Amino acid sequence: MISHQLGQPPDGPTPDRPRPYPLHATPHTPLRPMWCCRACGQPWPCPTARLLLRSEYEDNRIGLSIYLCGLLYEATRDLYRLNPNDAPAPADMFARFVGWGPYRRHPPVPPGGDC
Ligand SMILES: [Zn+2]
Repeated sequence: MISHQLGQPPDGPTPDRPRPYPLHATPHTPLRPMWCCRACGQPWPCPTARLLLRSEYEDNRIGLSIYLCGLLYEATRDLYRLNPNDAPAPADMFARFVGWGPYRRHPPVPPGGDC
């Protein structure tokens, strides 16, 4: 089978963002391999992590996209290894890690709908 001949892709980015805020607080970064927030215990990225990431990457939304896509890859690998029979669906993983909208466009204004 050809999959045995393919190499493994390299590791994704280190999940070290968002930075702690305030400076000495526990950062809202993921706790691996469960991918829950180390500060509040919610699934990562928690609402606070999303807010801090948006702020930290305000001038580099493409960089945030690349970071989140890399972590989506890392989280998918971890969670499928952790529980291969009941891992989250790929669409749910995408929505959780990438689709929450740091770069979402506003919906188009319908014709005649601009008041
Ligand atoms: Zn958190």
